[in-house]
Amino acid sequence: MTSSSPAPPNPDSADAALAVADLRKSYNGRPAVDGVAFSVRRGECAGLLGPNGAGKTTTLRICLGATRQDSGAARILGMPMPENALAARKRTGVVPQKDSLDPDFNCAENLEMFARYFGVSRAAARAKIPALLDFAGLAERRDEPIANLSGGMQRRLTLARALVNDPDLIFLDEPTTGLDPQARHLIWERLRRLRQSGKTLLLTTHFMEEAERLCDRVYVMDGGKIVADGPPARLVSEKVEREVVEIYGDRANQFLERNAALADRRERFGELSYCYCRDAGPLAAALAAAGLSFTHRPANLEDVFLKLVGRELRE
Ligand code: ADP
Repeated sequence: MTSSSPAPPNPDSADAALAVADLRKSYNGRPAVDGVAFSVRRGECAGLLGPNGAGKTTTLRICLGATRQDSGAARILGMPMPENALAARKRTGVVPQKDSLDPDFNCAENLEMFARYFGVSRAAARAKIPALLDFAGLAERRDEPIANLSGGMQRRLTLARALVNDPDLIFLDEPTTGLDPQARHLIWERLRRLRQSGKTLLLTTHFMEEAERLCDRVYVMDGGKIVADGPPARLVSEKVEREVVEIYGDRANQFLERNAALADRRERFGELSYCYCRDAGPLAAALAAAGLSFTHRPANLEDVFLKLVGRELRE
């Protein structure tokens, strides 16, 4: 899904599934969203990235009509928000950060109840359930109580639940947080399927690997603003050096003090030194000759993210 480099989306274009322009929202005089503009084309998977407190949730909530912006425009499938929240909701699916499945009902009943919220008749809801359970990989567990499902299964059921109204646009708030690698890969596979079937996806995530694998375009937010955007591969090639060498320990620091010219940029975090290089060959050779162990890898989206927003914790 990633490598091609589409032109930046035009927020006014008719093929935008979601468009926001100069969006602003403050709480107690402090801007949470501070002039955000972006748009997501129909059929695209976009990622909203940023440290805690960056303004991602507030942006999503404004897009969904759950929070009213102070100023600026948000449109879902051409419909201004929050004025058209009800109409937009009918064509939108939401996978919230925390699963909110009803523990008193089994898998099929959870899907049926949710479909009923959208005004789907009981017969029509029942007719949809087998395909939804199949999509979730839970066909064999249709009568299973929610409590018997693993975390991964609950996530997949929540994802299937977001599809009961056959939405055009799906919001996913940290869809794989808390899942083990197998469960995460399964969700990724399902999200790719949705993308291939023409759905538009907007996801927030803390996992840069997830964004790199799934997103056509990412928007990096910090302090209520978008600080970078583009296809992941393009951000990596434009924002950071091509190669990274990670070296651990005190001896590494002494070595790097003596050989500073071998890295284009250096960062130290605890005991670990990160050396960013256009060509890490000479550094790797010198480290090997000095008998120091190190890891040499290509730069990735996490390196971009850390360069843009820093390494200190935001709580
Ligand atoms: P993120 O989702 O990126 O972690 P949020 O949008 O939740 O960021 O928060 C952005 C900023 O707005 C934070 O400083 C947060 O404390 C503040 N904020 C968000 N919602 C509210 C609210 N309902 N009342 C007061 N402050 C809020």
